[in-house]
Amino acid sequence: AVPTAVMVATGVATRYGILIKDGESLENAARIKTVVFDKTGTLTYGKPKVKEFRMVSESLKEAEAKELIAAVEANSEHPVAKAICELTDNIKKCQNFKNIDGEGVTGIVDNLEVCIGNTRLMNRFEVEIDRHLDERKEKLEYEGCTVVFAAVNKQVVSLIALEDQDLVRPEAPSVIKELKRLGYNVWMITGDNQRCANKVAEAIGIPLSNVLANCHPVGKKSKVEELQYQNSNKKQNNKTYISTNGIEDPLLGSEKKIYGGVLFVGDGINDSPSLAQADIGIAIGGTDIAIESASIVLLKNDLKDVLIALDLTSVALRRIK
Ligand code: ADP
Ligand code: MG
Repeated sequence: AVPTAVMVATGVATRYGILIKDGESLENAARIKTVVFDKTGTLTYGKPKVKEFRMVSESLKEAEAKELIAAVEANSEHPVAKAICELTDNIKKCQNFKNIDGEGVTGIVDNLEVCIGNTRLMNRFEVEIDRHLDERKEKLEYEGCTVVFAAVNKQVVSLIALEDQDLVRPEAPSVIKELKRLGYNVWMITGDNQRCANKVAEAIGIPLSNVLANCHPVGKKSKVEELQYQNSNKKQNNKTYISTNGIEDPLLGSEKKIYGGVLFVGDGINDSPSLAQADIGIAIGGTDIAIESASIVLLKNDLKDVLIALDLTSVALRRIK
């Protein structure tokens, strides 16, 4: 049964545009020590623009390449995909579309196998990236761009560099500052490259030692687990807390689960496993998958509501005790 105080908090939260889906998760709030943010779409608006589209093969005309690429990306929800689709008005049919989480997309267009994504995706499809192209990529990443490659029938045809236009959400630095003042350990996890990650972290005040880049959706979830495990080793009041979401402690045996104390904030794109793994998962940005996986949903799309949600949950807890 959900305690009355939780029901009251849930009611108050609704007035703030904070949807509490899982009242029981609020009971974890008092033990939260670490707040982990996803980067793209969460700390940033995740609205990148194509800054450079470079043909690296003579086998196709630029306009043809753009059409093939956009045909595949039209099937993806990812912010990178949305930006790439703006390269052309002619969106062709794509068959066998596949999304590879944290890497990119692939599909068949005009009987050609097209794939677009990062180096990991190119390696997966055995597309060769020569040293020159790799150096160009490094340089653009150094400048803060997200760089993806496009390949047709396993031959790389273009390099696409994207830049996050509005970079960080304006409220992000003050929210991070307040979380730190309240004593939370703040982390950022991202599938994007280290340079982009560091640039955002510096802009909003997350220490670079608390930044994990180049992270797969599964890697993001593992990091949440690792932080839950670390927290559990710091026992509170000599008690080891037990959580339903927590990971198993090899030292305590398989039947015991350890309390985690990790709150994860994400937009659901490539981070829904983390939202589900965390003791409290907060979704921002409103994708269906985020709403499904999270325990709390911020309907106003404002990061400050993370603080309000934490505040409401601790008030609810004080009333329970
Ligand atoms: P974040 O963790 O910052 O939200 P993601 O995990 O969503 O980033 O994506 C990681 C990387 O995977 C992107 O930076 C991009 O290189 C690649 N990627 C993901 N989806 C796509 C796509 N639809 N098209 C091209 N590249 C993609
Ligand atoms: Mg994201």
